[in-house]
Amino acid sequence: MDCLFCKIANGEIPANIIYRDDLIVAFDDINPQAPQHKIIIPQKHIATLNDIHGEDNELIGHMVYCGTQIAKQLNIAKDGYRLVMNCNANGGQTVFHIHAHLLGGRHMEWPPG
Ligand code: AMP
Ligand code: ZN
Repeated sequence: MDCLFCKIANGEIPANIIYRDDLIVAFDDINPQAPQHKIIIPQKHIATLNDIHGEDNELIGHMVYCGTQIAKQLNIAKDGYRLVMNCNANGGQTVFHIHAHLLGGRHMEWPPG
């Protein structure tokens, strides 16, 4: 499949991978928006949040849980961080393989731009 994040997951395209297990891969964002900016993806190709089904509940929960563990490892958990998923045009999604952004190391504004 011609998908950037599938290719990162299977090693066809290099990335600085910081965590991998049977279900997910996490790596540095190539264009970081904060001192810490990691991307967490499922190994399974799912294009957008609109394409998640009930059978994916465990997978999505695992992505979130691993995000919290990575935040602790990066020492940003206590100060706080943002774990966000963008969907389609209004959400600002540019890569159509679902992913969570883990952003930390600075204060973030609300509402987002
Ligand atoms: P989104 O706009 O939510 O779809 O986020 C896509 C993210 O993927 C952006 O933050 C990009 O900087 C990041 N990105 C794009 N290409 C790569 C790449 N080759 N390696 C790592 N991160 C990437
Ligand atoms: Zn994919």
